[in-house]
Amino acid sequence: MLRSTKIVATLGPASSDADVLEQMFLAGVDVVRLNFSHGTTEDHIKRAALVRETALKVGRTVGIMADLQGPKIRIGKFKDGRITLADGDLFTLDAERTLGDQDGVGLDYKELPRDSRIGDLLLLDDGRIVFEVLDVRGSVVHCRVVHGGELSNNKGINRKGGGLTAPALTAKDMEDIRTASAIKVDYLAVSFPKSSADMYMARQLQRAANGDALLIAKIERAEAVEPKTLEDIMSASDGIMVARGDLAVEVGDASVPALQKRMIRMARELNKLTITATQMMESMISSPIPTRAEVSDVANAVLDGTDAVMLSAETASGKYPVKVVEAMDRICIEAEQTQPVTLDQEFLNRRFNRVDQSIAMAALFTAYHLKVNAIAALTESGSTALWMSRLNCGVPIYALTSKASTRYRATLFRDTYPLMMRYVGDSREELLAEAEQVLVSNGVVKDGDLIVLTIGEPIGAAGGTNTMKIVRVGDHRKQRGR
Ligand code: PGA
Ligand code: MN
Repeated sequence: MLRSTKIVATLGPASSDADVLEQMFLAGVDVVRLNFSHGTTEDHIKRAALVRETALKVGRTVGIMADLQGPKIRIGKFKDGRITLADGDLFTLDAERTLGDQDGVGLDYKELPRDSRIGDLLLLDDGRIVFEVLDVRGSVVHCRVVHGGELSNNKGINRKGGGLTAPALTAKDMEDIRTASAIKVDYLAVSFPKSSADMYMARQLQRAANGDALLIAKIERAEAVEPKTLEDIMSASDGIMVARGDLAVEVGDASVPALQKRMIRMARELNKLTITATQMMESMISSPIPTRAEVSDVANAVLDGTDAVMLSAETASGKYPVKVVEAMDRICIEAEQTQPVTLDQEFLNRRFNRVDQSIAMAALFTAYHLKVNAIAALTESGSTALWMSRLNCGVPIYALTSKASTRYRATLFRDTYPLMMRYVGDSREELLAEAEQVLVSNGVVKDGDLIVLTIGEPIGAAGGTNTMKIVRVGDHRKQRGR
C-alpha cells in the first residue's frame, strides 16, 4: 500500500547499526535526520555512508537531512551532573561561572544577562522548569524558581515570548555546513532562524562549501511566526519544519496546533515543503505501542497536509526504533484514505505563469478527472514533481530521473516516488518507452492502465517541462509490433 506522507527518522545510538537501519528502511523510513546537536563530525560522516550503503542494499531511495544545532541557549554543567530544585528556591544563572551547584549554574550563552529583564520567565528543559528573573547584576541573572524539578547538564533555556537574540548560525554551524556539504546531504535544516536573512546566510555558506541541499527553516522562535516574517522565511527556504519542541516553549503550547495548520497551508501555497516534528510518538521511546493521543496527532498532521512526519528520540535513542516506524506508517496510510480530494477547489486559488508550472497543473487536473493510474514526471531538477505534489489529486506522482541527487531530494515530497531512469540520450521514442518500462517493471502500472506523462522537449536539451502526454500502457508496444 502506497503511503503519501513521508517519514523522517532521527538517527542515534538506537539506530546506528546496519541491521536496525535496514529494518527501519524496510518499515518505510524515507529520510534520515543527522542531528548535529549530538555526536562528532566523524560520527556523522560514518553514519551517512552507512545510510547510503544500507539503502542501496535494500533497494530503497532514502534521503539524508543534516540538522544544525543552531544557537540553542543552554546552561552549563553541574559538579554532580544534576541538581533538584524546589519551588521558591533562589538560583543564579552566571555567564562567568564554570561548574554549577545547588545555588547556580554557568551559561554557554554569555549574552543572557544582557537579554534578560526583571519579571521575565525563563523556561528550561523544554519548559519543565520555570524561573522568574528577580534581578540582573553584571554577569549574573538572579532568579526565583517558579516550577522546580530535576535540572541536569546543558539543558536548553528559552524566554517566554521569545526575543533572545543569538545569531542563528554559530561558528559550529558553519563548520557543520562544510561537513554536511562534503557528505552531500539532500536537506539542510537551520535551527532558530528569526528572519529570512538567516536563511540567505545559510544558503551562501552552503554554496561556498559546494553544497546544494534543499534548505529547511526550523520554525521554533516567537519572532518567526509573525505572519510577514514567516512568509519571508518560507520564501527564502525550500521548506520548513514545524519544530514544536522549542516553538511550544516560546509561544505557549496551546498556540502550536493552530500555528501548525497555518504554516502547512502557507507552505503549500508558496510551493514549499513541510515537516511536522517533535514528540509525535514520544511514548514509544519506552513503550511498544503509541498512545491514542499520539495516533491522533500523527493522523491530524497528515490531514493538515504535511509532507512528512518526524521521529526524534523515538528512533535515536528509543527502545523500539523499528516498531515506531511501522506504527507511523500504518497511521499515515489510514488517515490518507479518509482524506477527501478537493482538487477543483484548491485550483481556484492557484496562481501560476510559468510554462513548466502550467504543465504540472494541467497534468494534475487531467490525472484527477481521467482517473489515471499514475503521473510520471520526467524531471531533471525535480521541480515539476514538487509543484504537482503541492496539491492532492489522489494519483501517485512518479519522479523519473537519471539524476541521483534529484531522486534523493524527492524522498520528502508528499505523494511523490522517485524512480531511476537509465536512458540519457535524445530520442523521444526511446525515452518514452523507457519511462513506461520503468513504471511497469516497478509494478506501478500494467498494460491497459492510463498514465499522464510530462516531459521537456526537445529531449536532451536543457530546459523545463513543456509537454504533457496521456498514454495507455502497452499501446506503444502493440503499435511497434504491428
Ligand atoms: P530540536 O528541534 O529537536 O533540534 O530541538 C525540534 C524542535 O525544537 O521541536
Ligand atoms: Mn528545536
